[in-house]
Amino acid sequence: MKRILILHYHEIWLKGGNKNYFLSRLRAAIRQSLEDLPVASLHSVSERLILTPGDDAALPRIMERLRRVFGLAYLAPAHEVPSALESLAAEACAMMAEAHPANFAVRVKIADSNYGMNSLEMERELGRRVLEHLRSRDASVRVKLVNPEVTCQVEIVPGKALIYVQRVEGPGGLPAVTSGRLVALLSGGFDSSVAAYKMMRRGCHISFVHFFGNPSPARNSSEAVAEEIVRALTPYQFTSRLYRIPFDAIQRQIVAGAHESFRVLLYRRMMARIAREIARTERALGLVTGDNVSQVASQTLHNLAAIDQGIGLPVYRPLAGDDKAEILRWARQIGTYKISCEPFEDCCPRFMPRAPAIFARPEELDEAEGRLDIDSLVRLGLEGAACTEYKFERGEVTSREGYPRRMENRLARKKAMARQPAAHGAASNNLC
Ligand code: ATP
Ligand code: MG
Repeated sequence: MKRILILHYHEIWLKGGNKNYFLSRLRAAIRQSLEDLPVASLHSVSERLILTPGDDAALPRIMERLRRVFGLAYLAPAHEVPSALESLAAEACAMMAEAHPANFAVRVKIADSNYGMNSLEMERELGRRVLEHLRSRDASVRVKLVNPEVTCQVEIVPGKALIYVQRVEGPGGLPAVTSGRLVALLSGGFDSSVAAYKMMRRGCHISFVHFFGNPSPARNSSEAVAEEIVRALTPYQFTSRLYRIPFDAIQRQIVAGAHESFRVLLYRRMMARIAREIARTERALGLVTGDNVSQVASQTLHNLAAIDQGIGLPVYRPLAGDDKAEILRWARQIGTYKISCEPFEDCCPRFMPRAPAIFARPEELDEAEGRLDIDSLVRLGLEGAACTEYKFERGEVTSREGYPRRMENRLARKKAMARQPAAHGAASNNLC
């Protein structure tokens, strides 16, 4: 008997001609997340992957890591035995005796067209043998086909049988970095981290942008919270970049130049514009926010439409239709809940309007912005930005400060354009 891990994927098999691409990315992600752990082999066998650990004692750590590998539907620590009925029945009996259930079922999948029995026959035969074996120790054990306490799962593939009684959910979705890039606006609250995670789970690679203010002395800065969240999310996609943008000066200009009721919407629009510039340098195809329809005044359908007008990039809002309880469940599951519970203050509670607009129209926001120099506010944000790169390697997240060269070039071009009055119109169209 050999200990192995069965890794099942589901959505990947729907991918037709692209299946091999997704599968190779899944295998690469598995290898990358286990690079410092002992893995003797990883094979594809009949629509599943079979991982053999180099050391059985490392199995729990291997499973813990694999629970963050997108594309895996579930993992099952299993025993591999020859597929002949006698050997697999003996192993099934031994495993079930160890599980010691009050009731049980046997489920068999046969992925070997030359195997001499069908799954139903096999389930009956194995069920009978396991029942006899268990009854010799405990006469009250019975078979229960609906909702059994323990299910003995048997998968027969060419040349061997895989037997297990326990399986652990994987994160599902599509393998990391198979769908292109996005930039997520990360506040430090529960919602935006979950939104970013949900898009990562669809194979998108996320870069993060966080806007911060000067917190009041009693509160922590939101920057540290955003950094911690990016650290927690990086193992899912292996690398991340976090841009941290001081927003105080921008906010003051909005407060001074625009009607109070539109303030929050103008903050959000300005954040989206700055994030869009970052998306361009990151070659990202859209933005992600944690907006949730009508959660707060700035998130009515009217207001979200008015904010998006003129952004010129798709804005993905994967939590739009969720309710808060679902979002918090996700946050707990992905490991960001506790981080977002820390008391912190970002730029948003500052200068809040007493009566925010609820049904803003895009023209009203345009008009409210009339006295602001949008281009220079965007530049102000980008010039103040700091950037950290994160990497998940050998089970650890490391980070280093660094502003991407492409971003510096972009900023230099913008400055040059701003100095040339003739070119200013073109730059302006580019930005708004
Ligand atoms: P919460 O769980 O507190 O609602 P949130 O992240 O949803 O957190 P909101 O105030 O509801 O925060 O903001 C809506 C969205 O706007 C956020 O999900 C986020 O995408 C974006 N956002 C808000 N504040 C910031 C910020 N300081 N930096 C970056 N993005 C922000
Ligand atoms: Mg929210």
